[in-house]
Amino acid sequence: MEATILNHPLINHKLSILRDKKTGTKEFREIVGEISQILCYECMKDAELTEKDIETPICETKGYFIDEDKYAFVPILRAGTGMLDGLLQVMPNAKIGHIGLYRNEETLKPVRYFFKAPKNLEERTVVVLDPMLATGGSGSDAITMLKDSGAKKIKFLCIIAAPQGIKKIQEDHPDVEIYCAALDKELNDIGYIVPGLGDAGDRIFGTK
Ligand code: URA
Repeated sequence: MEATILNHPLINHKLSILRDKKTGTKEFREIVGEISQILCYECMKDAELTEKDIETPICETKGYFIDEDKYAFVPILRAGTGMLDGLLQVMPNAKIGHIGLYRNEETLKPVRYFFKAPKNLEERTVVVLDPMLATGGSGSDAITMLKDSGAKKIKFLCIIAAPQGIKKIQEDHPDVEIYCAALDKELNDIGYIVPGLGDAGDRIFGTK
């Protein structure tokens, strides 16, 4: 499955503000939310709609509605939670799960420490959130955990991806759709995306 890379002047503009090391926490968090909202619209292009009769001030017509309850948003702690507010602005009734993974600094491999997902995952579209798809190790592991808990339809949303991350998810989980705002060049030797934006968690939460 091809990854969807949003290619839009306004997104490139917003991303450049995110990348700039001078951008402060408040603005950084706001823009992560805005881009996440746009990613949400994009990944819902195939959403199922239910037709219902409604009445406008002018006449009767058909309305088309999404069953928000059929969606679960699952941020990977901690940076993924920075994307959550943006998605909830658009889909306030979606269910929410959390996956706690961190990268072992030496091996760069994901270590699991928390998993809580909504019930009946097999009936929902599960949208995994992680702003930086770097090696793809955590993302792939998170998807495996969700599949082990019953998820059948999974989408992965990130702000910036590295080619290695996309390749890893595509190889391990060819059924998962990937959406990102930008595809960067490479990873450096400590697993950061280049040019990237630094540590997304630290920049969202102001911890450095
Ligand atoms: N996680 C980050 O926050 N930034 C990167 O560049 C890679 C992983």
